[in-house]
Amino acid sequence: MLGNFSYKNATKLYFGDDSLKYLNEELKQYGKNVQLIYGGGSIKKNGIYDSVVEILKANGKNIVEDGGVMPNPTLEKLYEGAKIAKENHVDFILAVGGGSVCDYAKAVAVSAHCDEDPWDKYYIRFEEPSCEIIPVGCVLTMAGTGSEMNGGAVITNHKAKLKVGHVFGEEVMPKFSILNPKFTMSLPKKQMIAGIYDIFSHICEQYFSGEDDNTSDYLAEALMKSVIHSSLIAIDNSQDYEARSNIMWSATWALNTLISMGKTTDWMVHMLGHSVGAYTDAIHGMSLAAVSIPYYRYIMPYGLKKFVRFAKEVWGVNPDGKSDEETANEGLSKMEEWMKKLGVTMKISELGVTEEMIEKIADGTMILNGGYKQLTRDEIIAILKESL
Ligand code: NAP
Ligand code: FE
Repeated sequence: MLGNFSYKNATKLYFGDDSLKYLNEELKQYGKNVQLIYGGGSIKKNGIYDSVVEILKANGKNIVEDGGVMPNPTLEKLYEGAKIAKENHVDFILAVGGGSVCDYAKAVAVSAHCDEDPWDKYYIRFEEPSCEIIPVGCVLTMAGTGSEMNGGAVITNHKAKLKVGHVFGEEVMPKFSILNPKFTMSLPKKQMIAGIYDIFSHICEQYFSGEDDNTSDYLAEALMKSVIHSSLIAIDNSQDYEARSNIMWSATWALNTLISMGKTTDWMVHMLGHSVGAYTDAIHGMSLAAVSIPYYRYIMPYGLKKFVRFAKEVWGVNPDGKSDEETANEGLSKMEEWMKKLGVTMKISELGVTEEMIEKIADGTMILNGGYKQLTRDEIIAILKESL
């Protein structure tokens, strides 16, 4: 049975190959000083930077530059961005990039006018913002995180060896996001692959929880099928607009909170992946992929019914003459086969994890209890060892 919920998504989307032009209309609603946030320079190579700057200038904005946001944005960078926003009296933040840039922009938005240390307030105590929040808009250049239509902002604290996400409310979500599938065509293949797996993992981690008959799970299955179908086409040919547009749209719906409405969620693959990321700075999607199969094989007996359904509905496994365990295992084997074809990293050792790190990574893993099995520390260690 669906649980009770209220739902509103505060982000307006513009989707398509002409969507950047709508930036003109949106900018009119905000003040003069715009903090232009971007990553390590890909937008300067593919021309997106020039197009965006032209629109900002045509709308009479003062551009406050804040480039160099690294993948898996750090706390040090967040302090820097918050300082830039405050000192320049920024009225509006425009994030142009992938999930790292969008996440960081939201974190800056709630930190610039915050008197307390944002790490302590948002990432240790998980408090809500109590200061002025700067509005954010996104021009997305990579599909994967769903950050363009959610309140999530993941920050890595290398000193504390912790990677933590805070999901903020609707006042922090992007006011608008511009999604042009063509912008993803310049992505390195490895990043595209990692983004695709991030999408799939977001869906799985909301799907593998609960045993009720729930519309959200049917939506999740449809999204998974679309991602599986488009993924290999999109990887084979970076210029295939149809596949890239389906991937981009699926990414948004995978994590704009719709498919978690009225149900419980798991999120342990992200918790494991984040801790692996805190020690290795691995590409986000790869850190998830490398722990997924050992994790799902381990929890499968505790959520057998759902794993059988996953095998049948998502992977087309024929259950005739098979035990439920055999059907469920065949589904996971098909998923593993697809992951290998896609080219994701299947082992955390390939990301730089060594045996000596395992206990520390386990200690840095936040243990949640929405899935089929609340893991103990020993079980986390066993899963991480299996992933080595
Ligand atoms: P990303 O870290 O934003 O970007 C990865 C790389 O792709 C960067 O090197 C970037 O280069 C490059 N890139 C992006 N767009 C490109 C393009 N069009 N052409 C060429 N290169 C391009 O990747 P992401 O996976 O989207 O974001 C990962 C972060 O999001 C992690 O910190 C993760 O924990 C977080 N996350 C957030 C949520 C959420 O709900 N908010 C969910 C999952 C994960 P440049 O830097 O040079 O641009
Ligand atoms: Fe993710």
